Amino acid sequence: MSWFGKSKESQEQPPKESVYPLTPRKAHCSVCHAEKMFTKLWRRAGMMAVCPCCKTALENPALLYKQIQAVCPRCDEPLEQPGFDYGLCDGCGSKFELVEGTKPGLIPNYAQRQERDRHGKSRSVLNEKR
Ligand SMILES: [Zn+2]
Ligand SMILES: [Zn+2]
Repeated sequence: MSWFGKSKESQEQPPKESVYPLTPRKAHCSVCHAEKMFTKLWRRAGMMAVCPCCKTALENPALLYKQIQAVCPRCDEPLEQPGFDYGLCDGCGSKFELVEGTKPGLIPNYAQRQERDRHGKSRSVLNEKR
């Protein structure tokens, strides 16, 4: 029944996780509110195959990546986009997307996403009292 499976091997393999390390540089961390050293920097070359947060194997990354902001279907972790640079702040360990010429954009981890959602709610209360 499955003796012809050998030629399918290449299709069934999950996409390769490929990242290239980059030279450490300084960038503005919006969590530390300061210029910080980013020692761990990398450029993502391919789609993510496994969620870095909950370790779920992403079954169909191509489908997830069709969305404007690809996120893990289980935990909402924003997925790294191929061709973009990412780094970890040495000060607080937060993950950022680094785009040349702009301030790094925070990639919130699980705790930061909870925090953000909480703040999102309290902020709307603040807006009401203006
Ligand atoms: Zn996840
Ligand atoms: Zn920081």
